[in-house]
Amino acid sequence: MEKRAALLDGVRVLDGGMASELEYLGANIDGPLWSAHVLEDAPEKIVAVHRAYIAAGADCIETASYQVSSRGYAEFGLAAEQADAALLKAVQLARKAAAEFPERGVVVAASLGPFGAALHNGAEYHGNYGVGVDELVAFHRERIRVLAEAGECAPDLLAFETLPSLQEAQAIGEALARWPELAAWFCFTCKDERHVAHGELLAECAALAAGFPQTVAVGVNCTHPALIPALIGELRRASNKPVVVYPNSGEGWDAEKRCWTGKGDAASFAAQAGEWFRAGARIVGGCCRTRPEHVRMVAEAALRI
Ligand SMILES: [Zn+2]
Repeated sequence: MEKRAALLDGVRVLDGGMASELEYLGANIDGPLWSAHVLEDAPEKIVAVHRAYIAAGADCIETASYQVSSRGYAEFGLAAEQADAALLKAVQLARKAAAEFPERGVVVAASLGPFGAALHNGAEYHGNYGVGVDELVAFHRERIRVLAEAGECAPDLLAFETLPSLQEAQAIGEALARWPELAAWFCFTCKDERHVAHGELLAECAALAAGFPQTVAVGVNCTHPALIPALIGELRRASNKPVVVYPNSGEGWDAEKRCWTGKGDAASFAAQAGEWFRAGARIVGGCCRTRPEHVRMVAEAALRI
């Protein structure tokens, strides 16, 4: 238990986007399983992305498993065992990169996307899944079991992220109950300065998650950076758990012109990161469209706090 409480001590900087960085390295992430394909086809590229983020200053890295689930794999005719193996492989690749920096003691978090990520239709950004809570619990329990029983391949913590609703956080708490010794964080995707994507209050979601024995931090990810200062306030009011924020770069996807718009450069992101630290965020990183340069500048901002 003390080990769990100390897990995030000294951790200030999280990594940035996996998928976009893989793309820059020339990996094909157009498939429906997104960066999960690369686990099979080009694992060395995933190690390279992890390495770049650690070199840039990340104290904690997330595995390339956001899209990995047996349900998501089944849709493409892949066996459940392949999904389970991919989850463990993602941890091994992260450990491989972390081992190259033994003095850094990098924390490896298993990225676990919400149920909507397995539907491949963007449902995680509204959370209206049309399934019962039992199905949500089963979906999450399956992946938790694989990682809980992974022995030497186990990650340091489970990063439940891009969660759109109170109901999904509740379901994960239920799914985790069998393994009280695990460590986890709960990060929500938000649509405005107070509400998660599905509409519940972020403070309500964070308070619920903070009550689970496994929870080591609560936070917000995959959200526009302009919303982050207010959301940090909501998180801090909701619980005394460390706050983790890793928003998107700030660019928006213009579906008509099929391109990214707006400002997402590392310098403006890092300037905001300084504000997030001062507002009480313990850990800052980046989500979609952030790159090692963003993380390098966040790490510099962390030193100035
Ligand atoms: Zn994102």
